[in-house]
Amino acid sequence: MELKIKNMNDKNIGLDLRGVVAALKQILPADKESVPLHEPLFGGREWDYVKECLDTGWVSSAGPFVSRFEEDLARFTGMKRAVAVVNGTAALHTALLLAGVKAEDEVLVPTLTFVATVNAVRYCQAVPRFVDAEERTLGVDPVKLRRELAQIARLSPEGTINRRTGRRIKALIVMHTFGHPVDLDPLRDLCAEFGLDLIEDAAESLGSYYKGVHTGHWGKLAVLSFNGNKTVTTGGGGAILTDDENLADRAQHLTTTAKQPHPWAYRHDEVGYNYRLPNLNAALGCAQLERLPELLAGKRALAARYAGVFSGWPGLTFFSEPEFARSNYWLNALLLEEDSGRQRDRLLELTHQAGILTRPAWDLMHTLPMFEHFPHGDLSKAENLARRLVNIPSSPALGGAVSDPG
Ligand SMILES: *Cc1c(COP(=O)(O)O)cnc(C)c1O
Repeated sequence: MELKIKNMNDKNIGLDLRGVVAALKQILPADKESVPLHEPLFGGREWDYVKECLDTGWVSSAGPFVSRFEEDLARFTGMKRAVAVVNGTAALHTALLLAGVKAEDEVLVPTLTFVATVNAVRYCQAVPRFVDAEERTLGVDPVKLRRELAQIARLSPEGTINRRTGRRIKALIVMHTFGHPVDLDPLRDLCAEFGLDLIEDAAESLGSYYKGVHTGHWGKLAVLSFNGNKTVTTGGGGAILTDDENLADRAQHLTTTAKQPHPWAYRHDEVGYNYRLPNLNAALGCAQLERLPELLAGKRALAARYAGVFSGWPGLTFFSEPEFARSNYWLNALLLEEDSGRQRDRLLELTHQAGILTRPAWDLMHTLPMFEHFPHGDLSKAENLARRLVNIPSSPALGGAVSDPG
């Protein structure tokens, strides 16, 4: 009892929080009023390409930058095809439709993710079933999921049925948290064994590799996001990645209002979506992709500095890429040992007071009012991780490897 009371004091809980803030201050620029979590960097040909759109009048859903952006993305990721869309959420929605997810199907999703992953499942009127995370990757735990599926799944000619709910389990979405790849091999095996489609939410992992291959290759489909806070930004944007030419053609059709190609006629053959990325945004994306290696180098350099400073630090670790991965370190994270959430909250407070903008993990999906009634098994690891994570500034310019003329 007495020990517990003593532990209420910052100084006695094994982690010197003011020391952490001082260490962060050493790494981050002192001349700035405040350091944001993630800032885009426009130092390349962004102005030229956007001006070209304005000069030529190609600003909207047709224009040369869109297909160029798609080709550049396919080349960089090593995927056969990339289809550019208005944002990552639209890409997820489209990917689920293309995987054949129907109303009342169950889709397995991590509870530790950004809300868009689950929103897209609900756009299909499907039912999310939340799965737990593992500490090694911050992503879906393949061992635990296998155990769970062995208990609830029954293989049948109609597909995999959840024997508790009677619904079909159609797909698994994995998410590469903060850019760190999940353990894809066992998860792909699991999906094959249980007849599930694997979809990779790679919104955070452009430039992240699993066993030497870019993330996105393990799923039937994968999605990227180019929101303002992502590694590469188009203002708003996203893409569907696939190695399946048919699926890519379907994605392109569905996201361009299902309009049949024709020189003048407007003919649509199904209910489509107006999800195509405008040329103006794609122009920004083309310029950003030219600098992607530099942006990644900046982020890795920053992560290396954090890793150096916090190596052996009592009470916390700097989260580093799993041994099978090369991460883009999109969003850097400290992982506290203490599990109550109290140190985390205090650290958030102290860093914000010092002008260092930090953030806790997302509220877990199964705790949100619109999702709390959906099914799940044990989620104790995700709950534990969510109380211990603190994201710290991650802009590539902070790594010092990138010059920012603007
Ligand atoms: C950013 C993000 C998305 C997509 O977000 P948009 O803002 O719609 O581009 C989806 N999933 C995750 C995990 C993300 O981080």
